[in-house]
Amino acid sequence: MKKCSKVFSFLLAIACITAFSGCEILDSITTTTSNTSTTLQSDTNTSADGGFTIHMIDIGQGDSILLECNDEYMLIDAGELGQGEKVNEYLKNHNVSHLDYALITHPHSDHYGGMLDVLKNENVQTKNIVMTEAMNTTRTWEKLVDYIDEKKYNVIFPKTNDTINLGDTTLSLYVPEVVKDLNNCSIVVRAEYDGMSAIFTGDAESSEEKLILDEGFNVQANILKAGHHGSRTSSSKKFLTAVNPQISLISCGAGNDYGHPHKETIQKFNDINLPMYRTDEMGSIVVRLNNNTMSLTTTNGTSEEIAIDNTHSNAESKTSKNTSSKTSTTKKTTNKKTAKYVGNKNSKVLHNKDCSTVGKMSEANKVYFSSYDEAINQGYTPAKDCNPQ
Ligand SMILES: [Zn+2]
Ligand SMILES: [Zn+2]
Repeated sequence: MKKCSKVFSFLLAIACITAFSGCEILDSITTTTSNTSTTLQSDTNTSADGGFTIHMIDIGQGDSILLECNDEYMLIDAGELGQGEKVNEYLKNHNVSHLDYALITHPHSDHYGGMLDVLKNENVQTKNIVMTEAMNTTRTWEKLVDYIDEKKYNVIFPKTNDTINLGDTTLSLYVPEVVKDLNNCSIVVRAEYDGMSAIFTGDAESSEEKLILDEGFNVQANILKAGHHGSRTSSSKKFLTAVNPQISLISCGAGNDYGHPHKETIQKFNDINLPMYRTDEMGSIVVRLNNNTMSLTTTNGTSEEIAIDNTHSNAESKTSKNTSSKTSTTKKTTNKKTAKYVGNKNSKVLHNKDCSTVGKMSEANKVYFSSYDEAINQGYTPAKDCNPQ
């Protein structure tokens, strides 16, 4: 985790990238947020029916997604230059007075263009900015980074597998190395709440999707925010299979110049019976995940209750479905205190109980085991970090 406030300005970008390796103030988000989560735990228990809400704000061609859990908020992107006010209006209408995190997936103007107006919004206090080390050379970008620098925001440059707790939701990040094609520099966010999940892929195209899969980042999700506004260059078949989504969200402008979403993408989604919810057709889309249900509402009046299908809650489909029902029984019978091992329900990875990774897992995602063999028999694989035996 790279967390360097102030050190960042566009003109110093290159020098800064070199300096980052020596930036020793770096603290991990997981450390920071695990403290936060301890504090939040008590609040959380009182607001039992919190849920996790995704707002895909209709800002025309571009992305702007608000995530909300237990009165904590993350804004992922803010649309094009000129769309920031629309985002501000949305925040106002939803009584959002603070953004715990403003995340810029990658430096393309349809993602960062409106961010300056959001940061300047006096009614919404932004606490942390999360971004990649990829830079742009446009004036709008320069103005944005100058402002971030001038106002001394806490800027976080995450690395792959860093996690952020947003209330009871755990956000896991994938951060690719900086490459020439800025789309493939997109920070990918996978959100998990009470066993339900969603993945937001920025403008990642098939080359980044391949890296994500090669590096074993868990992408499985009930909800897929389609990469790059539904472009044919994203949502490769392999990636779709790994995500195994139940529904998809596409953010694009009506009649956009790029022809997004491309017909090839629509075809691929239709082939796997993946429903599409598009901002160009439906306006802003809100999905609330709670009690194993997705409640979906849109500006154009669509309202749906979709039951979480467990075959989508684990990418390994049927066999793992059986396994997970077994593990949930085990969870009840294995005493938390006497357990020696803790499994991650979603990734099916087994850790020693005292492994630091266990501290970062949400309680809903933990399965306790007293015996190693029992866990292995249920399809768990030993973690590389703590190597349980
Ligand atoms: Zn874009
Ligand atoms: Zn882009």
